[in-house]
Amino acid sequence: YGDPNQKIDYVFKVVLIGDSAVGKSQILARFARNDFSLDSKATIGVEFQTRTLVIEHKSVKAQIWDTAGQERYRAVTSAYYRGAVGAMLVYDISRRQSFDHIPRWLEELRSHADKNIVIILIGNKSDLEDQRAVPTEDAKEFAEKEGLFFLETSALQATNVETAFMTVLTEIFNIVN
Ligand code: GDP
Ligand code: MG
Repeated sequence: YGDPNQKIDYVFKVVLIGDSAVGKSQILARFARNDFSLDSKATIGVEFQTRTLVIEHKSVKAQIWDTAGQERYRAVTSAYYRGAVGAMLVYDISRRQSFDHIPRWLEELRSHADKNIVIILIGNKSDLEDQRAVPTEDAKEFAEKEGLFFLETSALQATNVETAFMTVLTEIFNIVN
């Protein structure tokens, strides 16, 4: 995952937001380290991880920020959003409440972040199909109405995680180029 001596053309800050336990930290672990843990500890302290990848022959360092167990409403500080050019708004497809809170997260994001921020709505834990509480159509409809990208992912099975990040990073890349 990247040569440390590589020259960097762009650094894109992307923030992960959404209720506690939806899988934000595991999505990041999957993307940054191709890792997953079933008993992940609640995140402590604001943290980010990076991964450098190539988009159209340019090296792009993705700096992905993960909330620090600050998922209570309005506890995420404005410093977290500062400079972010992308956001991943995550819910758990097996927990309806985490989807019902998405409009709040979106409102908070829009009030703190740059107005051109690229946002993707992510329904994580798609492997829990037998416990599904959020129909794909509901989320798709919401995303269309709000002008968001949308994907269902499984950090556990590594489904669509790469695609979700590439969707956001490529869109940001196209905006700045
Ligand atoms: P966060 O609070 O949003 O950062 O959530 P975590 O990443 O800590 O994950 C919360 C719990 O959900 C942990 O037990 C994870 O192992 C589990 N989890 C995360 N992603 C998935 C997934 O895609 N599928 C399943 N089945 N469990 C997941
Ligand atoms: Mg976490």
